[in-house]
Amino acid sequence: MTSQSKGTGAPVIILFGSPGSGKGTQAKLLTQNCLRGPHVSTGDMLRRHISAGDQIGDKAEALIRAGKLVSDEIVNELVEKRLDEPDCGNGIILDGYPRTLNQASVLLNMLAIRGLRPAVIYLMVDYEKIVARLSGRRQCPVCGTLYSLKTNPPKVLGICDLDGATLVTREDDREEVIRERLRAYDLQTVPILNYFREAGVPTVEVNGAGATPEEIMRQICDSLAGSGLIPAAMGKNGAVSETRVG
Ligand SMILES: [Zn+2]
Repeated sequence: MTSQSKGTGAPVIILFGSPGSGKGTQAKLLTQNCLRGPHVSTGDMLRRHISAGDQIGDKAEALIRAGKLVSDEIVNELVEKRLDEPDCGNGIILDGYPRTLNQASVLLNMLAIRGLRPAVIYLMVDYEKIVARLSGRRQCPVCGTLYSLKTNPPKVLGICDLDGATLVTREDDREEVIRERLRAYDLQTVPILNYFREAGVPTVEVNGAGATPEEIMRQICDSLAGSGLIPAAMGKNGAVSETRVG
């Protein structure tokens, strides 16, 4: 029934990356350079439905209010509708989905029915570096300005440049909290990555150590082109001007 129509279906990039892996930056660079499709974050979509107060939003809000997770059913429905919107005709980047094995299997079915071709991108990062970077952040409790002890320190240690307030470490930036979030991410994600691998979905693992965001993006585009998921021209010779940051 559902022919996989290899070579024609638009690519659906399933993007994974732990907190601090630069996933948001990568999604943006990919849509600007080698993928002609939207970056769809299920978290953003849910927030939009909730503020619009539509049927999906009301259902999701009721669950969240009751301290429950938004069900697989709601998230799956959201993604399925999004896939059928006209701007996804050339592909899409999914961010924050799937989060469960059930969602992963529903997704593969949705894509097969539509002849869309999935690929997984996993941004690997050194957890010690993430911990060092995030735990080095300080925030001004008065004006909200963020500082980094390494890359963007205040002029006077511990003091906000703008208003002289004493800087604080946000709860989210405490080392134990970061380590717990990274552990939770692994627990949630590793089984899903394994599931996709076993299902034969092309998986690109990118180790971002020491590379600029542009270099990482280029590596991903080359791999996608190599697997025939995007036209070769958009991989190797994509119209990206090399702007090196950092
Ligand atoms: Zn301040």
